[in-house]
Amino acid sequence: MLVHKGDELFMITPKLFNRETKWEGVVPKKKIDSILDGYDLNNITIATLCSHSSLQIFHGARKMGFRTLGIAISHDTKYYDAFPLAKPDSIVRYDNFDDMVKGIEELYANNVIVIPHGSFIEYMGPRRFEDYAVPVYCNRAVLNWEFDRDMERRWLISAGVSMPRVFTDAKEISEPVMVKYYGAKGGRGYFIAKDYPDFKMSIDSTMSYSIQEYCLGTRYYLHFFYSPLKDEGYKLNRGGSLELLSIDRRDESNIDEVYKLGSIEDAKRHGLYPSFVVTGNTPAVLRESLLPKAFKMAENVVERSYELFGGMWGPFCLETVVNDRLEFKVFEISTRIVAGTNPFISGSPYADLIYPGLSTGGRISLEIRNAIKQCRIKDIMT
Ligand code: ATP
Repeated sequence: MLVHKGDELFMITPKLFNRETKWEGVVPKKKIDSILDGYDLNNITIATLCSHSSLQIFHGARKMGFRTLGIAISHDTKYYDAFPLAKPDSIVRYDNFDDMVKGIEELYANNVIVIPHGSFIEYMGPRRFEDYAVPVYCNRAVLNWEFDRDMERRWLISAGVSMPRVFTDAKEISEPVMVKYYGAKGGRGYFIAKDYPDFKMSIDSTMSYSIQEYCLGTRYYLHFFYSPLKDEGYKLNRGGSLELLSIDRRDESNIDEVYKLGSIEDAKRHGLYPSFVVTGNTPAVLRESLLPKAFKMAENVVERSYELFGGMWGPFCLETVVNDRLEFKVFEISTRIVAGTNPFISGSPYADLIYPGLSTGGRISLEIRNAIKQCRIKDIMT
């Protein structure tokens, strides 16, 4: 992957990923299948890390008749008492993530299936996740393609999706750009630069970063769900069905409010720099005439995922900007449940037209229920 550090552009090989489609050291699929062979499928427990979108995952699992298990490290779990319908039936607590990876025997005994959410792999770290020999609802091979920005770009561009242009030389900045630090999650430290001097003023050259076109427009985070098991609705050429369950827009501090101080330049003069730290989410809908484009993009991304690495299924999110020519630019894909689905625990303007009152968390459990019924549980677990 090409990254900048200081004024230099250089190549780094991400430690955890090789350049091919393989996840190095991934738990072999046949091991997961043999664990599933030992499971009582009438007695499945749905587990996830106590954070992010766990309330809706547990609430949805309970609706579908599953037992639920919260996984906690240092998490304060008292807040579940405030939400009895989403409180997990039990909580397992580990001292640290290494212990969590080792403590899998008791999960087998409870027929546990793990739902990875946005923070799950982020906090646990991909290295440990690859050693986590518990059935997880996702294709682990997708992580290679999501965590390496070059590979993510290769995937999305080859699916015909329009993405922000990338600048390889800061001296060529001739329009507003977004500077993103590697490993700075949730937009922390990202900044906008309008030209090279502006860039020089804000860059922390001890960190690796990338520069991309700043996409001016309205942000929409589109929450899709692809089911390889379903044979109705918006069907894909390869089979299966694509659903749009909801859309959100993120609240980001302090960029959403900085305009109250006048211009960004004014704010900077007072030592206040814009930042993109996610603090919450608000529901959104798209103008209806944009829906065909949105579906086409998502469809192509799913189809391409099967050609490149064996597929992406379940929930995923296209993070987009729509400009005033009504064109989408996708600046990121998240390949699992995103926290932006949280406003929709009891349904959404889109989910209600498919499964009234169902959240993405509920949809995940419905898929697992259907997979068990169709004897296809191994098709959606790795
Ligand atoms: P996460 O992993 O939580 O999605 P991240 O660290 O990968 O966060 P991004 O989602 O890429 O960060 O970006 C954070 C925010 O910065 C976005 O929500 C959006 O507001 C803004 N942003 C990112 N890229 C662009 C862009 N090219 N043009 C305009 N705004 C952008």
